[in-house]
Amino acid sequence: MSEIRATHTLALAPVIPPASTVDGFVQEFLNNLNFRQGVALSSSSQNDRYLALAQTVRDYLMARWLEDQRAQFERQSKGVCYLSAEYLLGRQLDNNLLASDLGGIAAEAMSVCGIDLDELRGLEVEPGLGNGGLGRLAACFVDSLATMSVPSIGYGIRYEYGIFRQTFVDGQQAEQPDQWLALGSPWEFPHPEAAQIVSFGGHTERYQDGDVERTRWIPAWNVQAVPYNYMVPGYHNGRVNTLRLWSAVATHAFDLRIFNSGDYAEAVRAQTFASNISKVLYPEDSTPQGKELRLQQQYFFVAASVSDFLDHHLADGFDLTKLPDRVIFQLNDTHPVIAVPELMRVLVDVRGLEWDAAWEITRGCFAYTCHTLLPEALEEWSVDLLGRLLPRHLEIIYRINEEFLAEVRETYGDDELRIRNMSIIAEHPERAIRMAYLATVAGAKVNGVAELHSQLLRDKVLPDFAAFFPGKFTNVTNGVTPRRFLRLANPGLSSLITEAVGPGWETDLDRLQGLEAYADDAGFRTAFAEVKAQNKVRLRHELLARDGLVVGEDHLMDVMVKRLHEYKRQMLKVLHIVSLYEGIASGRVAAAEVTPRTFIFGAKAAPGYAMAKRIIHLINAVGSVINDDPRVEGRLKVLFPPNYNVTLAERVIPAADLSEQISLAGKEASGTGNMKFALNGALTIGTDDGANVEIRRLVGDENFFLFGMTEPEVEALWSTGYRPGEFYQADEDLRRALDLIASGAFSGGDRSTFEPVVSNLLYDDRFMVLADFAEYIRAQREVDAAYADQDAWNRAAILNVARCGFFSSDRSMRDYINGIWHTPPAL
Ligand SMILES: *Cc1c(COP(=O)(O)O)cnc(C)c1O
Repeated sequence: MSEIRATHTLALAPVIPPASTVDGFVQEFLNNLNFRQGVALSSSSQNDRYLALAQTVRDYLMARWLEDQRAQFERQSKGVCYLSAEYLLGRQLDNNLLASDLGGIAAEAMSVCGIDLDELRGLEVEPGLGNGGLGRLAACFVDSLATMSVPSIGYGIRYEYGIFRQTFVDGQQAEQPDQWLALGSPWEFPHPEAAQIVSFGGHTERYQDGDVERTRWIPAWNVQAVPYNYMVPGYHNGRVNTLRLWSAVATHAFDLRIFNSGDYAEAVRAQTFASNISKVLYPEDSTPQGKELRLQQQYFFVAASVSDFLDHHLADGFDLTKLPDRVIFQLNDTHPVIAVPELMRVLVDVRGLEWDAAWEITRGCFAYTCHTLLPEALEEWSVDLLGRLLPRHLEIIYRINEEFLAEVRETYGDDELRIRNMSIIAEHPERAIRMAYLATVAGAKVNGVAELHSQLLRDKVLPDFAAFFPGKFTNVTNGVTPRRFLRLANPGLSSLITEAVGPGWETDLDRLQGLEAYADDAGFRTAFAEVKAQNKVRLRHELLARDGLVVGEDHLMDVMVKRLHEYKRQMLKVLHIVSLYEGIASGRVAAAEVTPRTFIFGAKAAPGYAMAKRIIHLINAVGSVINDDPRVEGRLKVLFPPNYNVTLAERVIPAADLSEQISLAGKEASGTGNMKFALNGALTIGTDDGANVEIRRLVGDENFFLFGMTEPEVEALWSTGYRPGEFYQADEDLRRALDLIASGAFSGGDRSTFEPVVSNLLYDDRFMVLADFAEYIRAQREVDAAYADQDAWNRAAILNVARCGFFSSDRSMRDYINGIWHTPPAL
């Protein structure tokens, strides 16, 4: 009996939600503390209290959760399966208190028990099951889907170790394992009874089934996928959706065929390693490593998810040819694309459908979101590896490719160059499956994540496909959830917004437009400035307590937080800082003349990305010199709190004045950090890249500091031969800044430490840092000038908030629903 049906039966008995009063809450809390944690209040640890509080909140949501699972099953209308290898969720307690509107009651109840709620909030280790923007996007999307009551389920992997915890040792990044489960996770529900078996390796064989020839896959080893359910509560709508993350467990019983398949010892060895599949999140962001375990992870979670959906979510006797009217599998980047041949395998080999019918179904059930423009980020799997791990899937991919290329031939004749360019199988440097091509051929729609990105996807990354599949390519600009990134992160600004435009903006962010009128209201501007100042004080306390870092008082807060990647150009920011410092240190500029600024960095580097780690080292080194140099008079501070994550983002972003979005044009697909900052009233200094383009269009040129080459200008400079040394020679400020780094001024006189960073810029500079330097400095001077007029600055900041309602992830969801999913309106 399936789990959903079991739930359905259970729900026939009404589930009584606990009483929503302070007394009731106290009672539930104490019950949980006594009977689940097994401790008395007087002898309970903070962790006991946190867990009991979490369980109490959870119980309030439970009745709705069960009801929503039942309703979704009963309704059998089209729903969304969001497939993502990453969910960067952030802390759950705060969010779930907010969604269930229990924050006030919980705070009172805790104080009745003599407990400080804020202290308990601070104990939660966030589930860091993602690297950065892509994983956070998935988390924002499931939040929006629940808030908009869209029937949907998120599928992913329950990594035992999420993204590593970053520390600095002598300014250099060190990685510690993220033991997020160590003290227990009260937000998850394991369902071993609903486990799926996922198979790997082995070989295939043909057999006769009546007069049809069929294929069967004889795998060599398998693993159990155990689902853990997470509640995804909608905001104040009593709705609770499910996020289902899979954990790998070794199977106990061997399939008899495995015993007989020949290599017994190999089967046993593989079996022991099976449970490693969900052990750790790969920490590479935008640079896939082609590791076997990574492919195992991908297949593991999509195979379990596809089977879970087909086995447990469809009514008995469901006609599979109707599947596209029942489900859309949204592929968050190429990580889950192996789901395409998996669905084909299940339909053809297991359910006995004809190939053509199965392909018709499959093409209607998938849509693909591309997240990159960097060629090195486009995933490819070697045919050798894929054939070894998933022999049947390789055969299926070959057949999909063969039939697709036959169609291409029908259109273009024997244009061999074009056919080679469009083949799902790359031939060089080794035979490999181009996962983005497979997703594009199979997907009903392919979308980029910002207007510029979608256009470049059509024109530069997949132009042959865009020509061959007219109408398949579309855009959905990313968004962020206003619940977490405004309401939770910035209570001060949230109150101010509610006072001005009334309640309800949290689920209808276009209402922020109502703030427009207040930009010219001096009283409102003062209140707005006061909130920003309070957020800076809050950050000051936080960074002091967390890391012993001292934020400058009354400083412009200049923030660059995002993964460390050369294309994002943290080096441009470093050169700006070094240039300011060099002016003071050389005596050419009086310290009193520089605008007091605190520069805040937050960034993790992939552990194997040497250049990124050197840049982290350099930022820390620059910080320790500048922060300690008395000539600076404390007017420049460079702070790099370690371990940037969602929790830190929620603290830093509301305190920011200036948002650094300075990637080389044509490299950042969208960015979502840029949206969080603008919604919190920071002004952006940015290039014409990703969603910056749309932010600038909406907030107006006069409320955005634009600089740098456009994407066509970048292309033009490349094609004429970019020589970074010429920019170095031509710009005195640039020369001084780079020379200062090269001189060893930030490495105790040792010239070798940062030599690779300097020569990389001088002789290679793939991301054209030097070419954009002068313009960046010019724009930063404009920032200084603008900041000198606080009233005008605040006006511009208010207009940023007022005009960025578009960037709610609810709007992104509407775009997916209308343009891609075509799911019916929610009840
Ligand atoms: C929003 C977010 C990101 C994405 O930031 P970008 O500036 O868009 O790269 C990465 N990490 C965390 C923790 C975030 O909250």
